[in-house]
Amino acid sequence: MNVQHHPTEARLLDYASGALSGAARLVVAAHLGVCPDCARGVHLFEAVGGGMLDALTPSPLAPDALAHALARTERPSAASDPLPPGPEDWIAIPPLVARAVRAAPRRRAPGAWMQAVSHGPGPARCYLLGMAAGRGVPPHSHRAGEMTVVLKGAFRDGDVILGPGDFSEHDGEVSHAPQATADGDCVCLIYTDGPLVPADWIGRIVFPLLGFG
Ligand SMILES: [Zn+2]
Repeated sequence: MNVQHHPTEARLLDYASGALSGAARLVVAAHLGVCPDCARGVHLFEAVGGGMLDALTPSPLAPDALAHALARTERPSAASDPLPPGPEDWIAIPPLVARAVRAAPRRRAPGAWMQAVSHGPGPARCYLLGMAAGRGVPPHSHRAGEMTVVLKGAFRDGDVILGPGDFSEHDGEVSHAPQATADGDCVCLIYTDGPLVPADWIGRIVFPLLGFG
């Protein structure tokens, strides 16, 4: 898999330190499942963090401290645990997302569907968004941040095309209209901190159908 768009180091550090909420972690975890480079980065942050905690312990350094620290960097972590395979032609997805795919009903609008995965805290939520080939989401802005990982297919966001496993993040200032590429359907896992704000009347009709109030 040729993953080209990755989370920032700051975001990987948030993941490693446990600073991300459960809903936000799902999106980063899906990327880590197909990106060995980022998984190694998280693993390293976890090892460094664990080493710092060890250093705070007021006890003499054990003779095997170095070997212990090195072993920690080799130890499997949540970041490197293999994810189960997703539905056919999807990338591997976290188990909670797989359960949502099986269980939750989808909300539909012309050319798109939405399926809730996880809520909270507050207005934050994680959901699956499906777009038919060549179709997309009406123009909108955000009142808060958004993280996206592509689970299947590809979509265009401005001048950028994101494919399977690619990760993108926007702050609350962005205004965009993501659109699946013409060669096939696209499914994304998305985390948002707040509501989507439609930029035109089409969005004001479509977003409630998809459950974006
Ligand atoms: Zn990556």
